[in-house]
Amino acid sequence: RERFPGSGVLYEKGRRIIGGGGHQSRVVNPFPVYVERAEGALKWDVDGNEIVDYMMGYGALILGHGNPKVVEAITRQLDDGTNMGTANPLELRWAELVRQLIPSAEQVRFAASGTEATLLAIRLSRAKTGKSKIIKFREHFHGWHDYVAMDSGLNTSNGIPEETLSTVIVLEPDVSRVEEVLSQNDDVAAVILEPTGAHFGQFPLSNPTFLQDIRDLTARHGVIMIMDEVITGFRVSRGGAQGRFQVLPDLTTMAKVVAGGLPGGAVCGKAEIMEQLVSDDDSVRIAHPGTYNGNPLSASAGIAALEQIAGDPVNETADAMANRLKDGMRDALARAEVPGHVHGIASIVQVALGVECGCGGGICTLPHLELARATGGDDDHAGLAQPLKLAMLAEGVDTMGGVGMLVSAAHREEDIDRTADSFERALRLLRADGMI
Ligand code: PMP
Repeated sequence: RERFPGSGVLYEKGRRIIGGGGHQSRVVNPFPVYVERAEGALKWDVDGNEIVDYMMGYGALILGHGNPKVVEAITRQLDDGTNMGTANPLELRWAELVRQLIPSAEQVRFAASGTEATLLAIRLSRAKTGKSKIIKFREHFHGWHDYVAMDSGLNTSNGIPEETLSTVIVLEPDVSRVEEVLSQNDDVAAVILEPTGAHFGQFPLSNPTFLQDIRDLTARHGVIMIMDEVITGFRVSRGGAQGRFQVLPDLTTMAKVVAGGLPGGAVCGKAEIMEQLVSDDDSVRIAHPGTYNGNPLSASAGIAALEQIAGDPVNETADAMANRLKDGMRDALARAEVPGHVHGIASIVQVALGVECGCGGGICTLPHLELARATGGDDDHAGLAQPLKLAMLAEGVDTMGGVGMLVSAAHREEDIDRTADSFERALRLLRADGMI
């Protein structure tokens, strides 16, 4: 309250006129921070506080805020038109770049968000197979529509019909369970998953052959494998998780980085599945209109972002900064004498307090339950995620849900080192409050 008084005042109005006060992951107690401006890895709130950002547009901004080439492309396109309601040449260049970077992309179709992308991928799968059920994994997040919101960390299925919930089978990410269900149930259209584990690796897939096993199983049962690369696409490697782990799904969902920080999403994959979108045969065609799909403004930003990812060491820079951050945060834990673990791959950093692990800080091997207790991802446990989010904000750092951090190529060494110091001070704040 002392550090962000202006935000407190704005929220008094916000909570009255905006449903729920605003976006559910921004409204923290006692109030959300209202930010006015951002550049590179930094953002400034209404009180003039400078904040090192690790939300980075929910992961969209791997190039940082205000990347000059993205800004230039958008500015040019603003003059030329933002939505002509026609096909436009930019969507071709945009689709070509997706095809160039994502190994399994034979055809691409643009949507307006990640939620829309997973909804489309599920419809494509159901139509192609003629089957109705979807397998998803517990805690894996695929957006907020009715077919994926259950058991995804949202902690509520209120408002979703029982009939809809009954078409989704939620499993632990355990290959033998998937095998059992597929051999007993011949009505499964698709398996959808986050390829680095739930919440971009908060709960990693610690079985190193998991992705390949699911690939083999789905292929054997004629079930479509959907890899949700909304966060991992163009981040975990230029070619996403599938490029890094060399496992090719039938369909891939993307958003965030693909649209260069503007609203956008996409589905790509096998032509034989994607062609259901173009068929003029109404008996097989699936519907997919949408006012903002493939719009020229998002296309211009997406092209500017993907061209840099394809040609410049964007991933390498972001990954190096994430490694520096992980090292700095580990040192901070040691200095503050707090047990804790910092892990994550590429430019993704995850924090778990109260546990330690010898995994080396890449793909963590701690059991899910232990990680859930250490990150607040467990209903039975109050968790430290929210207090850590607040303590980090008080120390000038914004994280994703308190325990996740997305590093960009615009983070500089000084931003990273400052963050590690803030983390140490945040740990001391939590200790002073008797939380750790
Ligand atoms: N899938 C994954 C893996 C995501 O992380 C997200 C968003 N965080 C989504 C889907 C939904 O994307 P959007 O917020 O653009 O609807």
